[in-house]
Amino acid sequence: MARAALMDFDKALELFEPVIGLEVHVELNTTTKMFSSAPNPANSAFHDAAPNTLITPVCLGLPGSLPVVNEQAIRSSISLGLALGCEIAASSRFARKNYFYPDLAKNYQISQYDEPIAFDGEVEVELENGRVFQVPIERAHMEEDAGKLTHVGGSTGRIQGAEYSLVDYNRAGVPLVEIVTRPIFGAEADAPALARAYVSIIRDIALSLGISEARMERGNLRCDANVSLRPRGQEKLGTRTETKNVNSFRSIERAVRYEIQRQAAILADGGSITQETRHWHEDTGTTSAGRPKSDADDYRYFPEPDLLPVVPSAELIEELRAALPEAPAARRRRLKAEWGFTDDEFQIVANSGMLNELAETVAAGATPAAARKWWTGEIARLANAADRDATTLVSPTHVAELAALVEAGTLTDRLARQVLEGVVAGEGSPQQIVDARGLAVVSDDGALIAAIDQALASQPDVLEKIRYGKVQAAGAVIGAVMKAMQGKADAARVRELVLERATAE
Ligand code: ADP
Ligand code: MG
Repeated sequence: MARAALMDFDKALELFEPVIGLEVHVELNTTTKMFSSAPNPANSAFHDAAPNTLITPVCLGLPGSLPVVNEQAIRSSISLGLALGCEIAASSRFARKNYFYPDLAKNYQISQYDEPIAFDGEVEVELENGRVFQVPIERAHMEEDAGKLTHVGGSTGRIQGAEYSLVDYNRAGVPLVEIVTRPIFGAEADAPALARAYVSIIRDIALSLGISEARMERGNLRCDANVSLRPRGQEKLGTRTETKNVNSFRSIERAVRYEIQRQAAILADGGSITQETRHWHEDTGTTSAGRPKSDADDYRYFPEPDLLPVVPSAELIEELRAALPEAPAARRRRLKAEWGFTDDEFQIVANSGMLNELAETVAAGATPAAARKWWTGEIARLANAADRDATTLVSPTHVAELAALVEAGTLTDRLARQVLEGVVAGEGSPQQIVDARGLAVVSDDGALIAAIDQALASQPDVLEKIRYGKVQAAGAVIGAVMKAMQGKADAARVRELVLERATAE
């Protein structure tokens, strides 16, 4: 496939105004599925289940089986809607969205169409550069997830070229809330960063409500990014593409940026954009055409005859409203003050999607400064090198444990970085790795003194200089001792001892 021509990003923004629209699917972590008593694999208790073990006749659409609405899913959806600043519908109903798909055995998906449970909201999003946006929410509706297909035998994992496909119905019927924004204007060059920050806020909201595991790499949180361009000064919206299921925060930003550059090159060349879905390719950082998708696609929606409308009582809505946790934007302001971070320090944390990890690391005993240092420093670096989200590399408890080992003097920063690599490689907890690899700092003065005396004896000139007061000459001896100890010594302590030994006799 020929690589698409791209226009320089700044040039693209000179000529065109980007408009984005984001669709985020949140898998709810209810105990059972949306319409059946089958265990829900989006609940962490069940996510390791073998294929096709979390199913009931309802998940398979067997004759005679009937859906029953999951009350917990309704409560979660209302809470989410409220947290998004939405109105909650006094009455909403389910509809059948008809299409054939082998991972949806009923041949229709139960979704909500013209009567979603929540609508007309607004979410505050703050970017790394301090710009604040109110992202308008059009609606949030409930639906069920489809199963999962695995295409086997091809080189790409896609259906093209595959020899056969496997179907796993565990995911069929997992409760989803789809949150759809209105078209977002005015982000300009910040459009890619805004897309990323918005999804990160949705994740924060879902986590703070406890309604989803919200892990992108597991598909608990999935984002489709709609992007269009319109020539400067034009009123009418341009034709959009919809890049599907981009599965990390970083990729969302890259995908939006890429689509802006790709579409700009086509439009500037006199071409036109095809309204279609596009696939994001993590490895090449590009998108490719999926299926054409018009606004008039007819799914023959009709009200689901097997389910009653959802009519939550005003008391229930008020009960859930009263139980809402602090809004993420307010929480960010509070944490920033508590942690004593500067604007810059805080923004880097907040917009890297590591805020919860940092909070959990602090809750596990680390100082805010240490937690920040590890997450935004070495962990971010390792994540970048591995092309993964930092939050998937290590757990907050392990980071807190690492920070405690440094604090206690068991590890130097350098040793701690080696331990961290071990944690990322799955070798165990920091303490286990220190034990297994023998990485702890040698705090036994006896061992240090032996190495110091040996180094002083082999560098008599240095010894002389130190004795005559040229303390900076000690550096050579300290270096030799650190080397002899394979870096497993506290350099400050070594320095103290060197000066002591050199002037002792
Ligand atoms: P679909 O059925 O195609 O998924 P949705 O209504 O669920 O449609 O979502 C479409 C998304 O695209 C919404 O977020 C909407 O705001 C956004 N959108 C619509 N038109 C445009 C456009 N011209 N450019 C960018 N985004 C758009
Ligand atoms: Mg949609």
